[in-house]
Amino acid sequence: MALALWVRCLPRGATPTATGFETFFPACKVIFGSGAVGRAGTEAAALGAHRVLFVCTSSLATTPKATSVRTSLGDRLVVQITDVRPHVPSDLVEASVHVAEAQGVDLVVAGGGGSAIGLGKAIGYRTGIPQIAVPTTYAGSEMTQVLGITDAARREKRTVSHPSIMPRVVLYDPEVTVGLPPVATASTGINALAHAVEAVYSPTAAPFVGPVALEAVAAIGLALPRCVRDGGDLDARTDMLRAAFLAGLALAHAGMGVHHGLCHALGGKFGVPHGLANAIVLPHAMRYNADVVGPELARVAAALGAVSAPDAVSDLIGSLGLPQRLREVGLGEDDLAVVAQDAMGSSAVAGNPKAIRSPDQLLEILHSAW
Ligand code: NAD
Repeated sequence: MALALWVRCLPRGATPTATGFETFFPACKVIFGSGAVGRAGTEAAALGAHRVLFVCTSSLATTPKATSVRTSLGDRLVVQITDVRPHVPSDLVEASVHVAEAQGVDLVVAGGGGSAIGLGKAIGYRTGIPQIAVPTTYAGSEMTQVLGITDAARREKRTVSHPSIMPRVVLYDPEVTVGLPPVATASTGINALAHAVEAVYSPTAAPFVGPVALEAVAAIGLALPRCVRDGGDLDARTDMLRAAFLAGLALAHAGMGVHHGLCHALGGKFGVPHGLANAIVLPHAMRYNADVVGPELARVAAALGAVSAPDAVSDLIGSLGLPQRLREVGLGEDDLAVVAQDAMGSSAVAGNPKAIRSPDQLLEILHSAW
């Protein structure tokens, strides 16, 4: 089925009205702590599930933690998908929905980063089957009712928002993140930071979002360097996963801005991994918005113990050893216009606090990041 036929664009995050705000609280149980993955079976039973599909990112599939999930699910587990690909391509969604329907699946358990959780969400959205999410990176997708999906033929990544996309249970287990390699740790951690920063200056954020997002900013500033320095530091991993949860919660109740619109276009058009796109674009998007969100950025700076928020974020990203230029991830200068044009169709760009009316404004950010 063509992507456009089943993508229903409902409001994302909070929506401003003349007199107040509007936001969504889909029913979701969050369990956080070491060993949480062992709860998969109990939670599946509580949801009345008998036939479970386990979507598991390939780098996790042979680890003891994936075995814990399978053991916990026991006889309920009927089929597993490990062909998880970045940016949730639409052809993979079609094939996975077919598997779920053919096997009579009544619950999806998705373990992995945003790509695995996104595939689980896509199956849930298409079939109405509930999901349990087991996040293993800091991308935060598990906390939202938003799905990013890529039309493989057109190379277009678009988001759709709907309550059926939201996982019913999220199992946050810091022990699962211990094996996350340094670059994935750093880049998905910066993705979490970007959720928090764009939530702080979002014009559509629900009122509780600011403090939640600033708490996430402060915690990421402290915990992420520790996780990258020593991936086996379980205390640091716990602090970072808790911060990613807070950032994901903020993301769920605030519209994102130009930063996210550009990252989706970089992923959809050129396959740039989402975390790396975040690491490259974030300080430039913050600088671009600075003249209209000065007080908000001052609060981000204070949370990081710094004077300038964009400079502090740029320094943090540099210290983690991540790429900081689009040319380093294969983008040619001519590609920037393609990204800008595509991003003009993004709801995140439309919701940016500084109005964006022409691709030239996006090119300004992209050139500074190139
Ligand atoms: P990813 O899921 O593609 O994972 C990156 C790599 O890390 C993969 O190779 C994966 O196999 C590996 N990996 C994951 N966990 C591991 C672990 N514990 N140990 C070892 N290897 C591990 O990347 P991501 O950055 O987590 O997710 C990006 C995707 O999530 C993008 O499509 C993005 O748009 C989406 N996303 C969606 C939302 C939302 O609200 N809908 C929010 C954030 C991100």
